[in-house]
Amino acid sequence: MKLNRNFLSLQESYLFATVGAKYAAYQAAHPEKKVIKLSIGDVTRPLAPCVIFAMHRAVDEMAKKETFKGYGPDATVYGYDALIGSIRGRYARRGVELEAGEIFISDGAKSDLGNILDLFSADNTVLVPDPVYPAYVDANLMAGRNIVYADATEENHFLPLPDERVAADVIYICSPNNPTGAVYDRAGLQAWVDYANRRGAVILFDAAYEAFVSDPALPRSIYEIEGAKTCAVEFCSYSKTAGFTGVRCGYTVVPKELVREGVPLGKLWTRRQCTKFNGVSYITQMGAAAVFTEAGEREIAENLAYYRANADRIAQTLREAGVWYTGGKDSPYIWLKCPHGMKSWEFFDRLLEEANVVGTPGSGFGKNGEGFFRLTAFSTAENTAEACERLKQFLR
Ligand code: PLP
Repeated sequence: MKLNRNFLSLQESYLFATVGAKYAAYQAAHPEKKVIKLSIGDVTRPLAPCVIFAMHRAVDEMAKKETFKGYGPDATVYGYDALIGSIRGRYARRGVELEAGEIFISDGAKSDLGNILDLFSADNTVLVPDPVYPAYVDANLMAGRNIVYADATEENHFLPLPDERVAADVIYICSPNNPTGAVYDRAGLQAWVDYANRRGAVILFDAAYEAFVSDPALPRSIYEIEGAKTCAVEFCSYSKTAGFTGVRCGYTVVPKELVREGVPLGKLWTRRQCTKFNGVSYITQMGAAAVFTEAGEREIAENLAYYRANADRIAQTLREAGVWYTGGKDSPYIWLKCPHGMKSWEFFDRLLEEANVVGTPGSGFGKNGEGFFRLTAFSTAENTAEACERLKQFLR
């Protein structure tokens, strides 16, 4: 027996586990202190009423032999028509036509972003922006793949463009970006799509935060860009859009036109999913199907507005304190530069100890994140307001 020794090249713990452990240790040592978490990107608003209604109805269906459901439908790799239809409607409203067979239902974006790697040879070179959501790097390290980085810096507004000298086969793009909050415009995404089509590379486009884009000029799907269907897979999630972090549902789009070495990627993905995945529960899918209805869109808009107000509040606090930041406009993340040249973990420790506020050190997202810090807008309005008061005092 031999281990997959690639696991040994991973950092000791996942970033958010380290943040959580530091928070827990501080809270245990100071039980009287109320520590406010603006760190992990987990939501606080409950599910929308129409989602709850749909899930209750689905539970009742499961209770009767006439309407009981077992395994999901094979034809769409376990996606029920109501859910696939509502996702197609969502895309159609933005001018993107998708076929039912191009949409795959999952238990969230994180699984698929890692699982999709089963389709690609271990010899491929993977391009990952730095800084970015750490799961992309870790999933590729586990598979022993060569990783190259696209530097996202203050100079390029945290939106790197393709470098023709870099021979990337698989490219991760996250827009709106976690952690920087940066969002590609059409020209930026077009540059990546053209590069990928020229090279025969595949883009893995993570649209987990698309619902936070409020500027109508900014693309929310890579398929709004010409040529994207021949080079890009898109990953979406109900987690941040509709508060499904604990319910678990997402969807991945693999267009029919995406073909490499004469093989449609959708065919491989179908084969992979049928072998290693058995679908998302009927109850969950019915809840998700209610999200992109007229009532659902209205109800989630209220929650998104709530988080946007939190982001505005944090941004205003930083502006008034003269701290450089970006993001928070079309994204739930605010990316600030640690004052006085502090390093990310130094700022984390001081903010925890002196203001009892937890954030996420930028260096945990990549080397270019050193000296930066991420705050999230996903807390409650009350806690965000209190955290902002404390930040104000702390930054003085
Ligand atoms: N992609 C990005 C960029 C994320 O930040 C997250 C979660 O924080 C995910 C994907 C995972 O989302 P899900 O809950 O759908 O697995």
